[in-house]
Amino acid sequence: MLTHTLGYPRMGSNRELKRKLESYWRGEAGADDLALTSRKLRELHWDDQKQAGVDLIPVGDFSYYDHMLDNAVRFGVIPGRYNVEGNKISLDDYFRMARGEAGENGVAAMEMTKWFDTNYHYLVPEFKSDQKFFLADTSLLEQVDEAALLGHRIKAVLPGPLTFLLLGKCADQEFDRLDLLENLLPAYVELIEKLSAKCEWIQFDEPILALDLDESVRKLFNPVYRTFKEAALNSKILVASYFGGLGDNLETATSLPVDALHVDLVRGSQDLEPLLVNLADNLSLSLGVVDGRNIWRADLDKGVAAVKSAKTVLGEERVLVAPSCSLLHVPFDLELETKLDVEIKSWMAFARQKCVEIRTIADAAAGKDVEAFLVDNRGILGSRKKSPRVNNLQVARRLAELKPEDYQRKSTYTKRAEIQRGLGFPLLPTTTIGSFPQTPEVRSTRSGFKNGRIERADYESFMHGYIEDCIRRQEEIGLDVLVHGEPERNDMVEYFGENFDGYCFTSNGWVQSYGSRCVKPPVIFGDVSRPGPITVDWINYARSLSEREVKGMLTGPVTILCWSFVRDDQPRSETCRQIALAVRDEVADLEKSGVKVIQIDEPALREGLPLRKAEQPEYLKWAEECFRLSASCVEDATQIHTHMCYCEFDEIMDSIAALDADVISIEASRSRMELLGSFNRFSYPNEVGPGVYDIHSPAIPAEDDMALLLEKALEVIPAERLWVNPDCGLKTRKWDEVVPALKNMVQAAKKVRREIQ
Ligand code: GLN
Ligand code: ZN
Repeated sequence: MLTHTLGYPRMGSNRELKRKLESYWRGEAGADDLALTSRKLRELHWDDQKQAGVDLIPVGDFSYYDHMLDNAVRFGVIPGRYNVEGNKISLDDYFRMARGEAGENGVAAMEMTKWFDTNYHYLVPEFKSDQKFFLADTSLLEQVDEAALLGHRIKAVLPGPLTFLLLGKCADQEFDRLDLLENLLPAYVELIEKLSAKCEWIQFDEPILALDLDESVRKLFNPVYRTFKEAALNSKILVASYFGGLGDNLETATSLPVDALHVDLVRGSQDLEPLLVNLADNLSLSLGVVDGRNIWRADLDKGVAAVKSAKTVLGEERVLVAPSCSLLHVPFDLELETKLDVEIKSWMAFARQKCVEIRTIADAAAGKDVEAFLVDNRGILGSRKKSPRVNNLQVARRLAELKPEDYQRKSTYTKRAEIQRGLGFPLLPTTTIGSFPQTPEVRSTRSGFKNGRIERADYESFMHGYIEDCIRRQEEIGLDVLVHGEPERNDMVEYFGENFDGYCFTSNGWVQSYGSRCVKPPVIFGDVSRPGPITVDWINYARSLSEREVKGMLTGPVTILCWSFVRDDQPRSETCRQIALAVRDEVADLEKSGVKVIQIDEPALREGLPLRKAEQPEYLKWAEECFRLSASCVEDATQIHTHMCYCEFDEIMDSIAALDADVISIEASRSRMELLGSFNRFSYPNEVGPGVYDIHSPAIPAEDDMALLLEKALEVIPAERLWVNPDCGLKTRKWDEVVPALKNMVQAAKKVRREIQ
């Protein structure tokens, strides 16, 4: 039985690719150096997979930046602003598309957006209505040659044309991008003909099959892939769907005129039965039975059972075994984790280990003797299930005892707002989102304390100094509601994870987020709870320095959930509720210690939205509940804020309102307050601070500009409910950008106050 992977992590065991890329961008490493490192990494990764027992080795999953950008470049989809002449795009042009270029002749990068519901971001191809396509870049063919020289059984991988077009955007006027298909296909066909002389398999990724599709899109699959099949004289063609079940696209998928269909049986386990009934005779079935999105050891028995049932119906030669999706979304190698608790580590599998798992499943289903592996797996899974480190009875009891009123503030917003007037804030109160510039000293002091180089007392006195500086500067700027600046936090999720039970941290569990940027999500392995206060002392230190209110600053339960690797042994909603209780405890302690304003950030609320419309209401329901559970323990007089950024808010407006925060600050300036349209349509009931300046830019926003935005906001939000703040936290900015920008912001607020009073 054949095994394969859909793709492998790109960065290398030590993030070698990241380092080399960044050194190339700094002008230190040359192009040859970068090319050599990349080639070595490809060779290593192919070999890794082969050693682990993978039969078909993916070629084309490597990228200098992003695979969708690669596909755009491959087929000549290069926006005019990059002024690329002729057919051959240079490495530097490629990076200009990916990253933009600063300076006078600078050019904006291509838009980046989330790859489905992962934390990976792709560059959005820009199509013109008269877009020409041609085979502009042949590096895939060259990589296939590299792999052939090494004697691998090759499966070339690239995005399929439908996913490519659908996930792109229109460069000029709006038009139906699928109209471009006719022009695009010949370029694909030219490549397929060339590949077909060199590789056994070609894989086209069509993850849009896991989305809601119009019938007009569905019916394109068959003719497109018929054309491809005819062009691929010597190669077999596999179409890959992942990130969800096929649902109502099942028939489209099972009637594809190609050689194999890959499906995600981790998220779409319910598809197996209908797949086996409906699969066309020409198709083999690749079963994605090992989770490519999470770090837990697979249940091998479960995988074997699925593969065996497919084998019974289809016969062994028509079954392939694979992870659910590309392994790009999990860390590289568990063996590199030397500091992880041994027991918890034994529950995990990273990319390398997952390759061994699929081999074992395939062998077991084929009747080979791998009993020892299976027994071992059963033992480990069993001990995880029973482990006292996973199960915390107290948490279970608290959850069971929750009552409806635990999810509700005591009074309505209107009543609370009246009481909160006692806080004495002026009309159009000014504030910031939480973090202030994280200088190199802040970072090094924090890491020094973490690794024992710096004593606690020295660490605290440094942090107190920073907080004091923040408070003084904010007072001088004239802000109304102050923050302590968040210097103690490396990351808004990691910080809380480190202080919760049920969390652990890897030292090398990096996953690519975009380009050279990787993130190391914390891991939730057990019931989450909060052993003791986390932020209370920091906030109260800040409060002791000023007459003005200082906001307590927390990360919300949904965001903590979305940015962690979560348990696979209970529903996400359950884990989220546990986190909500832990946050609630912190909220309660902050209030008890005298904090009057508490902000609970939920920037990831929109991200957690399921891909399928039908599943979204359920998610939104528990996400709202979890936020309210974390926030509702306070008195009416305590003001709860929340914050959201980087997303389109329109489709989740009802949920934003349902959070029932007294105040929400929200990113808005880049769209020149377009978002206010949704507030208008919806008439948002509580207080809002639409960001008046873009914190991603070093530019200092002018007072008049921000005043204009506030006036615009006042058209849809009454003055009593309008706050004034930047788009997001300021940790990536410099003090000499932040201070003048905030001074202008405060002046803008004062100007508009005068106008309306
Ligand atoms: N309070 C956080 C900060 O200011 C919020 C960050 C975010 O929204 N991503 O940094
Ligand atoms: Zn933000």
